[in-house]
Formats: sequence, structure tokens, C-alpha cells
Amino acid sequence: MTDAIKKVCVIGAGVMGAGIAAQVANAGVPVLLLDIVPKDGADRDAVAKGAVARMLKTDPAPFMSKAAAKLVETGNIEDHLDRVAECDWIVEAVVERLGIKQALYARLEQAKRPGTAVSSNTSTIPLANLTEGRSDQFRRDFLITHFFNPPRYMRLIEIVTSPATDTGVAARVSDFVDRMMGKRIVRAKDTPGFIANRIGTYWLSVAINAAMDQGLTVEEADQIGGRPMGVPKTGIFGLVDLVGIDLMPLLSKSLSATLPQGDAYFDTVRPMPLIERMIADGFTGRKGKGGFYRLDKRSDGSRQKLAIDLATGEYRPEKKPERLPGKAEKDLAALVAAPGKAGAYAWAVLGPVLAYAAGLAGEVADDIVAIDDAMKLGYNWKFGPFELIDRLGPGKLAERLRAEGRAVPQILETAGDRPFYRVEGGKRRYLTLGGDYADVVRGEGVLLLEDIKLRAEPLARNGSAALWDIGDGVVCLEFTAKMNAFDEQVIQLIQKAIPLVKGGYKALVIYNEGSNFSAGANLGLAMFAVNIAAWSEVDKLITGGQAAFKALKYAPFPVVAAPAGLALGGGCEILLHADAIQAHAETYTGLVEAGVGLVPGWGGHGEMLDRFQKTPGFPRGPMPATAKAFEMISTAKVAKSAAEAREMMILRRSDGITMNRDRLLADAKNKALALVEGYAPPEKPIFRLAGESGRVGIAGVVRDFVKKGVATPYDQVVAGRLAQVLTGGEADLVDIVTEDQLLKLERRQFMASVKDARTQARIEHMLETGKPLRN
Ligand code: NAD
Repeated sequence: MTDAIKKVCVIGAGVMGAGIAAQVANAGVPVLLLDIVPKDGADRDAVAKGAVARMLKTDPAPFMSKAAAKLVETGNIEDHLDRVAECDWIVEAVVERLGIKQALYARLEQAKRPGTAVSSNTSTIPLANLTEGRSDQFRRDFLITHFFNPPRYMRLIEIVTSPATDTGVAARVSDFVDRMMGKRIVRAKDTPGFIANRIGTYWLSVAINAAMDQGLTVEEADQIGGRPMGVPKTGIFGLVDLVGIDLMPLLSKSLSATLPQGDAYFDTVRPMPLIERMIADGFTGRKGKGGFYRLDKRSDGSRQKLAIDLATGEYRPEKKPERLPGKAEKDLAALVAAPGKAGAYAWAVLGPVLAYAAGLAGEVADDIVAIDDAMKLGYNWKFGPFELIDRLGPGKLAERLRAEGRAVPQILETAGDRPFYRVEGGKRRYLTLGGDYADVVRGEGVLLLEDIKLRAEPLARNGSAALWDIGDGVVCLEFTAKMNAFDEQVIQLIQKAIPLVKGGYKALVIYNEGSNFSAGANLGLAMFAVNIAAWSEVDKLITGGQAAFKALKYAPFPVVAAPAGLALGGGCEILLHADAIQAHAETYTGLVEAGVGLVPGWGGHGEMLDRFQKTPGFPRGPMPATAKAFEMISTAKVAKSAAEAREMMILRRSDGITMNRDRLLADAKNKALALVEGYAPPEKPIFRLAGESGRVGIAGVVRDFVKKGVATPYDQVVAGRLAQVLTGGEADLVDIVTEDQLLKLERRQFMASVKDARTQARIEHMLETGKPLRN
């Protein structure tokens, strides 16, 4: 069905329209981006063109690669509207004004082909109002697709259809936003603000009011209202700074205009002189001069974090609040029961917000799963409102609301003492509005380890990794340590996996559902060994890792690595050893060892050289591959998307990219199964490297960098070690360097690096500050 949409038109090249167009382009699909003709100026396409130019400079980048930007064609609605006839889906993302949207639809109705979907990105306007006055055909083709900002990174899309919407049209658009644009669809009903903004705006309003009423500092409110409640670690005020303080009155205004009378939101609306003044003075958050928090530059150039005093509106140095009492950090019930500020504030926020969300079940969506998904994906909550209620206990929440004389939402009565979610027969089930339990249904073709874990025990497990049977003869290797870092236990489990798969399975997939695939070797552990000079331990880890990765590479079955998020250092090296990679589009990978003064130690040098050697069209001869690998590794370059990883050749052309995170495991499994028939492990590569003369060339380049001040003296030393490996050590041009010889060289240079006090200083600095030390 996906192939039905081959070209998209986005009308409105503002914040959202431009970002949506970029995400269509990221999917490899051409897109026509139109906006109005500017009143002055000769270039009639200037608005849309300007939007693309701006996006090329935006960080985090809306485009996954420069190549994607080329798929966006720009134009204007006066000269080019008839070109919507070339498109299979038209997305309207113009200003939030009903009259403007309606006038545009009247023109679209004439210009588009019947059956071409039109969808609005409106945040607040009901669908019924949008299609007023339009033909039956237009209504059949119309729906709401509500993306979140920024469209590349926010995984939620709320889709609203009307009884008139053609199911085929809705299915075509849904399929496209799911598979091609990578969004998880939540079906919302046609109500003001839909799901996420309705609850999200209420939450922020309640939380800001309560902080002011209870005399909390912004730091205290963010500490209590952030992590312990499972909302982003920015907390509340930090989040408002991030999205923009000026958005608050806008959302409030549009919600106030459309919400039904008597909605609890109206109780939260009050004059906000502080916020009004901040906006008027340009303190709109991170995009402005600062917000509730602000970074201040001192006269000596150093920076200081300031926070606003909610009572006086004056900035003062940030004050770290006291730690929360023991269990309150992790246990929500303990948090709301905690004495003093913490408990009082937590309850003042959670009580109303959870009651509000519960009261909306049935009104904004057909089931509680949609509401939880919307808050998790649209506001980055770790738990949805109903999952939070389960952590408090639905019965307990109802009891406390009742005791305080507040209304108890129907669904809480229905739940009684039962949880909203429970696992039955290995399946996650949720409480329906009718009071029964139903299975949580995943999209067709979606496979999640999270679900498999509910019904099975691992085939093997230790403290840092596990092996799972994911069906059809495929085993999944999961990393489980903090940041999914690699240690001895990961290596042990890899060694265990090989006979296990060989004995009774067909293929192995390396995949996990952490936010990051792997941050690479556990540097903390490495430093521990370094501090007690346990060099044999370090050597064992390097030798063991090399052996394990090569064992994966030459195993008699296909291995597919499926990264998402960070895959750095060792996390990148394991990808390089797999037969194939199926990467999530949001994969950030690279060999970053040089940043902490190390060189890759688990086969990264040889695998990268081999990648270049084998890429069709890559220049032959010993130096091009060496120079390219040197440039990449010495600068610790990280791809900022899977598309960039492909440009860097970490991904081969034959490797796959999955846009939707939920579909990654299924895609990786299919890729592995496709390799099973007739599978033969790769042949061992041989290398012809430039030796001494190559090193002289590289050294010259590095010397220039040091002179220009872009490389430090120790960078020069590390570069020398990299060059040793990448040019084949003592080899001469005529010699052949084997993979094993290269591994030995790599080990030697790794050990030399790790024993160097300057490397140790870099690692310690990284562990302490999270930032590289430029020594
Ligand atoms: P914006 O102000 O950044 O951009 C709106 C664009 O529409 C401008 O470039 C403007 O020139 C253009 N425009 C105005 N009239 C037009 C017309 N007749 N034809 C073509 N273009 C026209 O606004 P935005 O934030 O991108 O919002 C666009 C839509 O998306 C709105 O419906 C908004 O409610 C919705 N939305 C916004 C966000 C958000 O966070 N900003 C999130 C979700 C949805």
C-alpha cells in the first residue's frame, strides 16, 4: 500500500510544514513545499525557499542528510497550486486560522485529483468545521494528521477521521506516516486539542500554578515534577523553556475558545503577569534570551546557570534542591505520601492531572492505551497517565479524591481495585471502558522484545546481556547494562550465543529496546582496572572482545545488527562485524575512541578498511582506504542519522534503514531470515597497506593541524598510533597484511594508549563531566 504515495505536497512552510516536508524527504519521497507569495520581493517562492535554507542550518537537524534536502521542491500557492494534481497526499500546515484553511481547501478541491488525500495539521480546530461547505468527495478524502514539533524527532502522530472519511484514503495515509515517516499512530476523536495537547496543557498549567501557590522554586518543582513522576528530566519549567514560553498563552487561548463549558481546564486559567512580562521582554525560553532558566556569561567568559525567582521575577544563581526523601525518587506512592514540600507538590500536580486524564477516557479516545501512548510519545512521559495511576493504585487514587471531596472519574470507579494494565497468558491487557480486559494490540508486522519478554524466559542471561528466542528460528542478543555498555559479561554471552544458535536456530539478531544501542566499552570499569594497573585484565578484555566479534563474523549463520540511538565505539565495531545492518533511521554511530585518547580495540580498524576496499567505485590502492579511515577515526566522527552512517560507509548500500522504531526488530529478523538459505560466512580479507611511507604522509597532515591549532599535541600522538595500525605497521607496500596481523597491531596500539597518563586524564574527565578533554 505504501507505494500508493509517491509524491507529497505540503502547504505552509512554517515551523511544522517545513519539518513535515523534511521528514517526507527523509523517507526518500519527493515533496513539493508551497507557501504564500511574499508581499515584497521579486522571488515569489522566497518563503518556502527560506524555510529549506533555514532547516539546513537548524540543530538538531530536520534533514537526516544533505541528499534528503534535494528532494524538497519549493513553490508558491499562486503559481503552483495546480501541481497538487501530481501529488498523492496533500498536507495542509498553514496558520491556525479557520478562514484561511477553508479558503485554501476550496481552491484545493478544484486543483487536486479525486481520491487524493488532504490532511490538516491543525492543533485545535475540529474536523467538522474544517470541511464545512466542501463537496462529498472532498470530505471522503479529508482527515487530520497532527504531527508534533519537531516532526523528525517526535514519534507521535494523532490521526482524526470523520464518518465521511474514506477508509482506503485513511489507510493509505496511515500506512505512509507509519512505515515511511516512522510515526506511531494514535487514533484520536474529533475533540479540541485532541489528546496530548489537551492533557499536556492542563498538566503544565496545574504544575506552574501549584509551584507558585506553594512557594516552590523552579528547581524544586522540576525536581519533584520531573524524574520521579516519569516526565522528562527537564521537569516542568525546563520543558516550557524548551518548547517556548510564548506558546503557552497561544495554546491556552485556542483551547479556551474550543473546550466545552465546565471543562476543568478553565479552573487553571488565571492572569500570569510574570509570564506575560517574560514574553514581552523576549525571555521566551531557550530560543529567546532565556526562560525560567538562563545561562549567564560572566565578564571572565565563564558561564553560570541562573533561575528565575517566581515571586519577584528576578534571576538568581541556580540552587540545587535537597535530595528527595529515600523512596520518593522511585516510588510514586511514597512520593505523594511524603511529608513536606515533595509530597504536597506531587499530589497537587498528580491528583488533578490523573483525574483529568481519567475523566477524558472515552471522550478523546476509545481506549486508555491511546491516551497513554499520546502522552508518552507526544510529551516524552516515561509512563502514561493510566500507567502512573497503576503505580499509585487506582483504588487509592479514587479514595484520596473522594476523601478530598473531588469527583471520581467513571473509569476509576469501573476499575475499582483492579489495575488498568495486567499481564495474562503472556499478554499485556488493558481495562476497557466497559470494564473488561482486552489485549493491547500492536500494529500489523510490529514485533517488540518488550512483548516477547512477557511470555518467555531468556535462553540465557547474565548481568549485562541476554538471549531471547524471537521465533522462526531467530535468536536475539540483547544488551542490558547501564547505557548498554560492553564488559566481560557481554563478551561471554556472545561466546555462548554462537554454539547455541548453531545448535538449534537459524540466525542471530543483535537488538535491544534501550534508548541507546550501546555506548561502547564501559569506561568506568576500564579506569578501575587502569587505576590498579591490572593490565592483564585490560588486555583480556581487548583480546576477548576481538575474538568474540570475529566469532560473530565467521559464525556459520547470519548475524544482523539492528541499532537505534547511540552506537559508539565498541557499539559501532559490533555493527561492522555483522553480515548485515538494519538500522533505525535515528542511529548515531561512529568510532569515537580517539576522543578519549584511545584507538578502536575490537577490530574497528580492519573492518572499516575492508568496508572501503569492498565499496564499488571506491578508489583502489593502499592509501585511499587508509586515508578515509584515518580521517573518520582520528576526528571521532559520528553519523547523526542512519543516512549519514551510510554516507560514511558504516552502513553498506545493501544494509537497511527502518523509519519506524516499532518495526526495527521485525525488519531485522526478516533480513536475517532472508540470508539463511545458502549462507556462507565471509572470507577473511587481506590488506595491502602503505607502511612507513603512508605514515609519513599522514604525519605531515597532522602536523599542519597542530600548527593551525585544530589538533592538540596529544591528538598528534593518538593520530600516530592510529596511523601505525591503518598503514599496516612494519609492513611494506609489497606485503600482504592479514586480518589477524592487523588485530595484533590494534591490540598493541590500544595497550600503548590506555597506559598513557594523558589518555587516562581524558577518560577521567569524560566520566566526570561527560565532555572531552582537549589535552
Ligand atoms: P507557522 O506560523 O510557523 O507557519 C505557518 C505558515 O503558513 C507560514 O509560513 C505562513 O506564511 C503560511 N501561510 C499562511 N497562510 C497561508 C496560505 N493561505 N497558504 C499557504 N501558506 C500560508 O505555524 P506552524 O507552527 O507551522 O503551524 C502550522 C499548523 O500546524 C497550524 O495549524 C498549527 O496549529 C499546527 N501545529 C503547530 C505545532 C507547533 O508546535 N508549532 C504543532 C502541531 C501542529
